[in-house]
Amino acid sequence: MAQIINGKEVSATVKREVAEDTARLREEKGLKVGLAVVIVGNNPASRVYVNNKKKACEEVGFQSFEYALDENTTQEQLLDLVDVLNRDDRVNGILVQLPLPKHIDETAVINAISPEKDVDAFHPVNVGRIMIGNYSFLPCTPAGVMRLIESTCTDITGKQCVVIGRSNIVGKPQAMLLLQKNGTVTICHSKTKNLKEICLSADILVVAIGRAKFITGDMVKEGAVVIDVGMNRDENGKLCGDVDFESAEKKASYITPVPGGVGPMTISMLMKNTLTASKQQAGIE
Ligand code: NAP
Repeated sequence: MAQIINGKEVSATVKREVAEDTARLREEKGLKVGLAVVIVGNNPASRVYVNNKKKACEEVGFQSFEYALDENTTQEQLLDLVDVLNRDDRVNGILVQLPLPKHIDETAVINAISPEKDVDAFHPVNVGRIMIGNYSFLPCTPAGVMRLIESTCTDITGKQCVVIGRSNIVGKPQAMLLLQKNGTVTICHSKTKNLKEICLSADILVVAIGRAKFITGDMVKEGAVVIDVGMNRDENGKLCGDVDFESAEKKASYITPVPGGVGPMTISMLMKNTLTASKQQAGIE
């Protein structure tokens, strides 16, 4: 039976570290850390995410600046706001909550954020930095996954790592981070043939597909570390991952639950990136 990786606990540790560092920066250097969060429209899920981010800012001692814009905000108005925030010294990190309403080009908005304040690490400059291994910010979800793997004391070097999903925000950067830790990495996607066979080779299996309970215990190698990034609703409307937890936990050595696994890590890594941004902008790091 697998040991459960407790994402809430690991996330609380990261937030505690960030809070201590933030308090020290304030005392020793008089620095305040600020995160601007921009939300456009009334998507209820986005509202929840934004509220959680505000709460996390309070917990770690950051100033948070919220900009809640009307659904009908034009792309030009949003780009103007990003421009103002890029030049606002109180703001160390800028996060524009996705998805944006359909009439706004998300790529144009991401590209407008100053790479130094791009704490989501979605800007092409930061994506490129991740590719060459010389980065300031890691994308929050994959960085959270790395921290969870680290919490199991698993040495990634030489391990067969399988990432299922190749999105720009999870799968692709996840694969790069595992590669940088000397894993032997295979990336799978919807066109992959013999998925089961590849999964069964994985010492470390990271699943980011978006399909409820898709990976079953018979696809998991005995003793594997299984990280489930998925967030779905099952047939009863209950939150569940991409991994069928019940069957997979019988094979894995470590496994993340949903909820309470990867989810809580994403926000704490955002806090960590914002702190890093403030230090860099102050010339401390
Ligand atoms: P996405 O952009 O929709 O990408 C899904 C990926 O899964 C694609 O690369 C797709 O392949 C692949 N895929 C789909 N069906 C597959 C199949 N049958 N076999 C193998 N691969 C398949 O999703 P995402 O943004 O990466 O998110 C993935 C999941 O993680 C979602 O449930 C999302 O809600 C969750 N998520 C959670 C957090 C968190 O904080 N916990 C953060 C981000 C995302 P193709 O490229 O070939 O289409």
